Amino acid sequence: MIVFDLLCATGHRFEGWFGSAADFADQKDRHLLSCPSCGSAKIERVPSASRVNLGAPEPKKPAVPATPVAEPTPEMEGKDPFAIAQMLYSRMLDELLTKTEDVGKQFPAEARKIFYEEAPARAIRGQATPEEHDELLDEGIPVARLPLPPTRLN
Ligand SMILES: [Zn+2]
Repeated sequence: MIVFDLLCATGHRFEGWFGSAADFADQKDRHLLSCPSCGSAKIERVPSASRVNLGAPEPKKPAVPATPVAEPTPEMEGKDPFAIAQMLYSRMLDELLTKTEDVGKQFPAEARKIFYEEAPARAIRGQATPEEHDELLDEGIPVARLPLPPTRLN
């Protein structure tokens, strides 16, 4: 048995089961077919596109988007990635500046004292010349150079 989608002259669509395509043609020629809705004998076979995919696998659902690692805050919306990076860097600096003690130009000396346990261990910040910076590193003292805007060094 095969199924055909059929359309009557007035536009009713219905299905008809036949032993073969020839069986359909034969019944049609002999006007044995009629629309179940209006009884019209003018029946045409229509392409049954809906049956092409019968039994085919379900279309794959789109992958669930991964949860963003960092939720964007409202002020970041619409900003380009560079602006957001600037914003995050600025926040990191703020954090750093509020959690470190400013020892100013005493930085190299203080860093040494802390390293050699002559002063209480704490996070400090301050200024060092490139030479002082290199000396500290040579001694194995962990220091990091930060590109702080000049105004933030005060
Ligand atoms: Zn009809």
